Amino acid sequence: MSEAERKMQFLFALRSKGVTDSRVLTAMEETDRADFVREGVFTGRAYEDMPLPIACGQTISQPSVVGLMTQALDIRRRDKVLEVGTGSGYQAAVLGRLARRVYTVERHRRLANEARKLFERLDLTNITVITGDGSHGLPDQAPFDRIIVTAAAEDPPGPLLSQLCEGGVMVLPVGRSDAVQSLIRVTKTDAGFDYEELRAVRFVPLMAGVAKE
Ligand code: SAH
Repeated sequence: MSEAERKMQFLFALRSKGVTDSRVLTAMEETDRADFVREGVFTGRAYEDMPLPIACGQTISQPSVVGLMTQALDIRRRDKVLEVGTGSGYQAAVLGRLARRVYTVERHRRLANEARKLFERLDLTNITVITGDGSHGLPDQAPFDRIIVTAAAEDPPGPLLSQLCEGGVMVLPVGRSDAVQSLIRVTKTDAGFDYEELRAVRFVPLMAGVAKE
């Protein structure tokens, strides 16, 4: 299959799964997932709509889930975005093409370092990678216009809710890690928080503390 055909098929798969926002599709077209997939047996599968294993026992999300979460965030050009769970850096790279500034937090030092190097190599200069426990958010950079969590917690972490701007939106999977989880969208209003359930998903669990490697 030629490069062009592969790209067409990738975009077609995204559309057929409900990713219809043209800005999101363009950002994903411009972000080569092969750069974020570990070299070796999985390189050839970078354009398939499935999650793949990365270092530290973690996974790079399925492209359609990245697309649907990004679409649900409804990012505006001037937004400052926080991602919890850098993993491969793929989701952050897509966010970086839509927002003014992206902060992404990862508890595995190795994944954070690799993502940082990759963003440098790809010249994605508006993304900052931080090693840490993202469930505390980033008080120094708060508030955020948009927050995305790419690991599942039982409930939305309180510090993240409090670091959302008024009118701000957070998209995250909630539920037990050994069960099917719900992707939800939380909007902060002047009266409190609105919650919407979007679809069923499966993510690795949100873990406490910084990992050993
Ligand atoms: N967004 C990623 C998918 C990451 S999988 C991508 O595009 O590839 C979820 C990631 O969340 C894992 O790398 C895991 O180590 C990380 N994680 C889990 N709990 C965390 C926490 N409390 N703080 C920061 N990162 C966390």
